[in-house]
Amino acid sequence: MPLLPTDIERHKRHILLKEIGGPGVQKLRAATVTLVGAGALGGPCALFLAAAGVGAIEIWDDDRVDLSNLQRQVQFSETDIDKPKADCLKSRIIALNRDCQVTARQARFEDGSTPSGDILIDASDNFETRFRLNRVAHSSGRFLVSGAASRWDGQVSVFASGRNPHAPCYQCFVPEMPPEAEACDEVGVVGALTGQVGAAMAMEAIKLITGAGEPLIGRLLIFDGLQGTTRTLKLRPDTDCLVCQK
Ligand SMILES: [Zn+2]
Repeated sequence: MPLLPTDIERHKRHILLKEIGGPGVQKLRAATVTLVGAGALGGPCALFLAAAGVGAIEIWDDDRVDLSNLQRQVQFSETDIDKPKADCLKSRIIALNRDCQVTARQARFEDGSTPSGDILIDASDNFETRFRLNRVAHSSGRFLVSGAASRWDGQVSVFASGRNPHAPCYQCFVPEMPPEAEACDEVGVVGALTGQVGAAMAMEAIKLITGAGEPLIGRLLIFDGLQGTTRTLKLRPDTDCLVCQK
């Protein structure tokens, strides 16, 4: 479908970029993204994708908005407290871009859950879901954009093991649940950092959809908020990985 004058006006700052342009905006409009987690990372990620004109976003989250979420989950308002996060995020996305087709699934992403997106975004807060999404991404050949934030530190990567045998999967990076796994409600997290990581996840999805630049496949981008530094580590496939090396 050609871009209407209103589409051109809305997206002109993306159209001006040679790496996106009109064809990139059309690719974004044709894309469907599955987002697991509507919280601190998922909120900013979803809003930047909707603002970029991503055509369809599927949201999985079984949680409800709590007062303690408002310190970082800026997609929600005080009037959203006790309401389902998936529904509130859907309303917020549609207020931003009514052309975005949003499906809110008020459910956890479980074994057997079938995502509709071409790209999977892991904005979850637990390793069971992370491992499950990685298995689905690997077996279905989808890209997995993964992000995490705790205290002052964040990280983002893209896993593509189902498309490229030389690319690691999430479980090559994290083979099993770390014994010292920390939940942010126990150790704390800076709200602004979660916005930074969520936006970086949206950035990676936009690059994958439009073909712009070099996505973080096989690389881990690490933010150290306290020191104000970033660094990138190389990730390699683990020859013993039970997911991608079987
Ligand atoms: Zn692997």
